[in-house]
Amino acid sequence: MLVVEAKLKNGTSEQYQRLDEVIRTSQFVRNSCVRYWMDNKGTTRNDLQKLCSRLAKNQDTPWVTKLNSQARQSSADRAWQSINRFYQNCRAKISGQKGFPKFKKHSRSVEYKLTGYKLSDDRRKIKFTDGFKAGEFDLWCSQRTLVYYSEQQIRRVRVVKRCDGYYCQFLIDVERLEHHEPTGQVTGIDLGLKEFYTDAQGNTVDNPRYLRKSEKRLKKAQRRLSKRFQKGSRQSNNYHKQRVKVAKIHLKVSRQRKDKAIKDALALVHSNDMVVYEALKVRNLVKNRKLSKSISDASWYQFTEWLNYFAKIYRIVCVAVPPHFTSQDCSVCGTRVQKSLSTRTHQCPNCKTVLDRDHNAAINVLKKGLQYLGNYLNGSVGHTQTGASAVLGSPQVEQLAYPNALGESDLWVFNGNIENLSCLVEQGISNSDVERIPHYIA
Ligand SMILES: [Zn+2]
Repeated sequence: MLVVEAKLKNGTSEQYQRLDEVIRTSQFVRNSCVRYWMDNKGTTRNDLQKLCSRLAKNQDTPWVTKLNSQARQSSADRAWQSINRFYQNCRAKISGQKGFPKFKKHSRSVEYKLTGYKLSDDRRKIKFTDGFKAGEFDLWCSQRTLVYYSEQQIRRVRVVKRCDGYYCQFLIDVERLEHHEPTGQVTGIDLGLKEFYTDAQGNTVDNPRYLRKSEKRLKKAQRRLSKRFQKGSRQSNNYHKQRVKVAKIHLKVSRQRKDKAIKDALALVHSNDMVVYEALKVRNLVKNRKLSKSISDASWYQFTEWLNYFAKIYRIVCVAVPPHFTSQDCSVCGTRVQKSLSTRTHQCPNCKTVLDRDHNAAINVLKKGLQYLGNYLNGSVGHTQTGASAVLGSPQVEQLAYPNALGESDLWVFNGNIENLSCLVEQGISNSDVERIPHYIA
């Protein structure tokens, strides 16, 4: 699946208002579904779909029938998703908040499936054809890639409102696969605040701290906004103008972060046959108030998501390991050297190794990853031919959750080309018998 995003341009302000109405209606349907679920015990997904058609026929809510029927269904699906997530969290007994479904106040998107819109033949225009009659918009696509895909491949069309305009996201059913030139390199990375990451070879990528850079402008804009806020009354036009300005600064920061995450992840995947990273529990880390802003600004989670994504499409191995003691243990002899966050160098009293703290951690991360992969491969001796190789070589990209020997965490092997990892054999982690390593089946 691939998402192509295009901006909806050259509509009249009336057309954009109609898009707003569409989004509001979709929100109404979703909230009605959540309300229905709260009031009726044992509501199923199917009940919500039935509720949709009842809402469409209801004389009191004439706007619902204007919304495309499939868009109504996907609004109900969205309600069901949040209900389902709540159930899952309860079943999994996660600590803290379980995410009880909330009513949405400021929805910003609506999803069409296969009907309710029409694309022009040259894929430069889109026309919304449901009851709201939002009409035709020009599509401004940065990549101009939409033209390569047939109408059957476009499975979903989502209209998203952002502070700088309206966008259309096309979900395209295509499996993206790229060629990876084996480099013979494997690496582990230690995510940090001072450097964005340090790899096992000691290379670093700096942390741009986009929010910190925009903070001055943001603070000024927010000060102006709060001056214009009038308690208890309708806000003025000037207030709303300023609100959009603040939102635009945030949007810029988030775009910068995304760009950076994509570039760094892609570069890492290009130059390595295997990447190991720490599965950090960012949710717990941001509880540290002194560091929470810096941690959010670094957007590690987003980066690891992109890393997984590119690992998938380039078919390299990507392993997540638990972060325990990676910065404390000596990467040479394994002695645990306690250090505080401010200690930047690792000095081992046992083997006299002196290394940068993050570099030491990155080596440990790599070692853990290789060990896990080795455990996985050696553990699947008996059924390499059937089980493991079938999964590893299958065209669908699957995450393999495999409990390792230490029982610490799951090993995530993406559909990578394990053949390239001669290092496993060299380091004696996998047995010298290369035949046993599952081969990728084209
Ligand atoms: Zn040591």
